Amino acid sequence: MTRAHGPDLPVDISNRDAADPLAHLKARFHVPGDLVYLAGNSLGPAPLAVFDEMQAAVRNEWAEGLIRSWNEAGWFSLVDRLGDRLGKLIGSDAGQTVICDSVSINVYKALQAGLSLRPGRTTIVAEGGSFPTDLYVAEGVAAGRPGIKLLLEGVDAERIEDLIDENTAVVLVNHVDYKTGALRDMAALTRIIHAAGAIAVWDLCHSAGVVDVQLDAAGADLAIGCTYKYLNCGPGSPAFIYAAARHHEALSQPLTGWWGHAAPFAFERGYRPDGGIRKLLSGTQPILSLRAVGAGLSAIEDVPMAELRAKSLAMTGLFIDLIDETCKAHGLTLMTPREPALRGSQVSIAFADGYPVIQALIARGIVGDFRAPDTMRFGFSPSYMSFADVYRAAAAFNEVIDTGSWRDPRFAKRNAVT
Ligand SMILES: *Cc1c(COP(=O)(O)O)cnc(C)c1O
Repeated sequence: MTRAHGPDLPVDISNRDAADPLAHLKARFHVPGDLVYLAGNSLGPAPLAVFDEMQAAVRNEWAEGLIRSWNEAGWFSLVDRLGDRLGKLIGSDAGQTVICDSVSINVYKALQAGLSLRPGRTTIVAEGGSFPTDLYVAEGVAAGRPGIKLLLEGVDAERIEDLIDENTAVVLVNHVDYKTGALRDMAALTRIIHAAGAIAVWDLCHSAGVVDVQLDAAGADLAIGCTYKYLNCGPGSPAFIYAAARHHEALSQPLTGWWGHAAPFAFERGYRPDGGIRKLLSGTQPILSLRAVGAGLSAIEDVPMAELRAKSLAMTGLFIDLIDETCKAHGLTLMTPREPALRGSQVSIAFADGYPVIQALIARGIVGDFRAPDTMRFGFSPSYMSFADVYRAAAAFNEVIDTGSWRDPRFAKRNAVT
């Protein structure tokens, strides 16, 4: 593969689109104008189904149905019905996944639940380079439990494996790193965690919807993740939490609200947890946002995850091939592993002037993002992107870098959200 250059699409790229078994999925999404949208790892685009879904939810179920809709429209069971559907996309059997709250809140519940399963152990292990909210929450959990210490990869030891021992209660680990796009071997690391007798909490924010996640098969204990990234369920849509059925009886979590009660409508005085996955719930969930989760799932759930994963790898591999020479010529560093098995669904490139480069690309309709201090991120979604999109993104990237057009002062102005 040569380097992408100019507006004309090479024949081998058109051929790839013609042979793509997932090409039909693109029509299920609204991608504005002719944007090449590479920020689906931050906020996925709207699935077309969401427009009718929201109309029905607001007009029929809320406006007309009012409280009757808790039963008649199945509002109360949405969290676990949607959880089961999402579970299929992450290798979870039914009854082990619920949709609720935010990732941050679910990290809190998952860490506390992990600690509750390993009383007497004294450390939580996480990655120093993790998405910060996971670490902020872990800090808070440790601060609230005297005797519990937080140990970080990259700070307390170079490799996470070296921090896991007989003192470890819980290991919180990202399946795909939000900055580098590197993918962990879930089964292998879970085996190491279990060999030390500890609990594995997997963060799937950057893998759910694009990687063929196999939670049950990998022996994962707990997992949390986001629905507004590659699952395309809407800005701030509720997150998910998974707990393997073998832990349901023993685990506890501290946000013991009425939705997690064994009999919420008995209005008993004391807390008595639900016997299953619903014990991870706390209170009333945002029903309108949950309806958008249904729309997001419906856009991809009829396709095997292995096919989405294969196309995702083909896209990230193609992009790397098409920009490699440019990066080498201009001293930009590829942060994402070249080895497909070690890669999620994004390509990250380190460059001190990455911010204006991203702005220059956005001005051309190529939308990636920037993470301080120097990371340009390009997320590739197999659901709504074509290989032609990959080529256009690479050609624009090569041109912006080669010509130095990113040096225009208008691209240096910083916005609040990068
Ligand atoms: C996106 C993301 C989050 C987001 O957390 P919220 O509570 O939804 O704001 C958390 N962790 C990781 C690893 C993420 O990528």
